[in-house]
Amino acid sequence: VEGLMQPRPLTIAHILERAERLYAHKHVTTAGGERLTYAEVTGHARRLATALDSLGVPAGARVATFASNSRRHLELYLAVPATKRVLHSINIRLSAEHLEYIAGHAEDDVVFVDRGLLARIWPSAGKLPRVRYWVVLADGTDDPIPADPRILDYDELIAGAEPFAGSFEETFALADENLASGLCYTSGTTGPPKGVLYSHRSTILHCLGTLAAGLIGLCESDVVMPIVPMFHANAWGLPYGAMMAGASLVLPGASAEPAHLLGLMESERVTVAGAVPTVWTSLLPELRRHDLSATRFLLGGGSAVPPALSEACRAALGVPVTHSWGMTEISPVGAIGGTRTQHRDATEADQVAVRAAQGQPLPLVNVRITDVETGQELPCDGSAVGELQVAGPWVAGGYFRTDDGESFTGDGWLRTGDLATIDAHGYLRLVDRMKDLIKSGGEWISSVELEAALSAHPDVVEVAVIARPDPRWMERPVAYVVVREGSAATAADLTRHLTPRVAKWWLPDEFVFMTTLPKTGTDKLSKTALRESLRPA
Ligand code: ADP
Repeated sequence: VEGLMQPRPLTIAHILERAERLYAHKHVTTAGGERLTYAEVTGHARRLATALDSLGVPAGARVATFASNSRRHLELYLAVPATKRVLHSINIRLSAEHLEYIAGHAEDDVVFVDRGLLARIWPSAGKLPRVRYWVVLADGTDDPIPADPRILDYDELIAGAEPFAGSFEETFALADENLASGLCYTSGTTGPPKGVLYSHRSTILHCLGTLAAGLIGLCESDVVMPIVPMFHANAWGLPYGAMMAGASLVLPGASAEPAHLLGLMESERVTVAGAVPTVWTSLLPELRRHDLSATRFLLGGGSAVPPALSEACRAALGVPVTHSWGMTEISPVGAIGGTRTQHRDATEADQVAVRAAQGQPLPLVNVRITDVETGQELPCDGSAVGELQVAGPWVAGGYFRTDDGESFTGDGWLRTGDLATIDAHGYLRLVDRMKDLIKSGGEWISSVELEAALSAHPDVVEVAVIARPDPRWMERPVAYVVVREGSAATAADLTRHLTPRVAKWWLPDEFVFMTTLPKTGTDKLSKTALRESLRPA
């Protein structure tokens, strides 16, 4: 017997119209202090909807953005999927070669680009003949705009368009919830980048996941600041989640200056902010100079948050950096860290250890670990280490126009490439990425654990440990370290610091002192770049 409930589609159009109906007075604040209400932002989205029609952008076409976090970018997040087009957010830090590959592979029809970023993408226009229009988003810069009939101005475009007066949501049929809504490419450290094609259904379910209380739990009283870029896996779902919940949003623009970010957090009374660990590292020394008393939750993800960093934030603000584990392929959030009732009576050290884990899968997300060699499922006992696999309604089942059998198991689970343990309560702890693990004499060394131990040294600001090929042991660890200005710490000091914390054979063979470490396009530490520096010239 079938249930008798209304077959209504799950669609991003609902987020737009809910914000209009319930939260019209809430705010979106952008760098520079511009403050618009959701009534104004959704009003612009309604104009943008008809403007896209007038540009002749077909349903299903990819509409690309090349932009930092701003309210205009948010208007695109709303209008593009609400009109059944696909929002393709491009990483603004890609090389021209990757950018051209991705925009070509996606067959982008129109590109919306920040004025300050036009010079970076315009040289590729000749290689992207399918792009019919380049629409420039004002971003406070006055960079020159080439005279070309394909280049349009966003504000003029929407000012000249009538707002769509109907209900976007009512234009969706049940089957339409599976239409594509967004497209993000993974950075492709091996082989070309691969596109993850989100649907309305997957996006709405993920969005509800970000609202689940006790995990991130976005709610109406929140003021949410995604520092993580809107081109990095949809800013971890924070923009859609905030709007669904009725929270105000703060979109900090292009600058990553600590004074700018923390100034906004202070003046806007931000309650929830999300960023990769390297950003929290850069903000840490300045935290106490600002009144961040409104902050209730700091999210850190994209790579492991060193426990020392999280605990230092906790000491400064009373709020640790909570792990958000995920991947572009998981929309992206799969699990959230933090303690549960069973940890209330645990010792301080045990609570720190729990907080250092990647934590509990979100509702509807299933995880398992399997033996790397045999593929056999391993027990959830907190000690067996296996490849982490994941299944759920917001997990990719394939890549856009790419056959990649390797990334999925025979029964359709996503292979994450991460090594993890799962304990009896379902807590996930990442040991390392499979490709970052150091294989020394047939045994494994976790680069993540070595980094965590080194980060606990008071002078260490940033550290990355990678494998160096070794004739005797196959691979040996080498640590690249940035120390605090004026520090006199030597390799011997760091070895002495590590000695009681890790097995003797884990001690790095060499410490390389650096003034800064290379970062990826999403601001993570780039072990690929470090590995390349190790290769003989
Ligand atoms: P890319 O491979 O381009 O960096 P993602 O941004 O999707 O793509 O990164 C996904 C990977 O980042 C995960 O497979 C995992 O290795 C790592 N990661 C993400 N979040 C965390 C976290 N909280 N702790 C440790 N590692 C993480």
